[in-house]
Amino acid sequence: MQCSQCGRDFNREDMTGPVASISGSILGDECIESYYYCDCCGVYTVQVFWDLFSGEESSSLHGPILKAKGDAAVALIRQCSMPWNKKCRCSAHLLYFKDSALD
Ligand SMILES: [Zn+2]
Ligand SMILES: [Zn+2]
Repeated sequence: MQCSQCGRDFNREDMTGPVASISGSILGDECIESYYYCDCCGVYTVQVFWDLFSGEESSSLHGPILKAKGDAAVALIRQCSMPWNKKCRCSAHLLYFKDSALD
């Protein structure tokens, strides 16, 4: 897991893992999006992890994402008291996954 801009490794000891992550169940598949912030370059990198109903897993990295946009997503995720719960249907979950078909 590395910064999409400078390549800094987020798994080093001095890094604290994702700032926020959220899980949603979409048509039987689980999608987990984790936001990592790099304070060297001031941008976010997002890891999107899919745990598919078929048993397959895949992940991809997105970024660099501008701080303002990432901050807004992190703030939204923090409105949910259980963002790791893919079955949560609070307003934050619904808004976050508004472009996807939550089941
Ligand atoms: Zn960086
Ligand atoms: Zn929620």
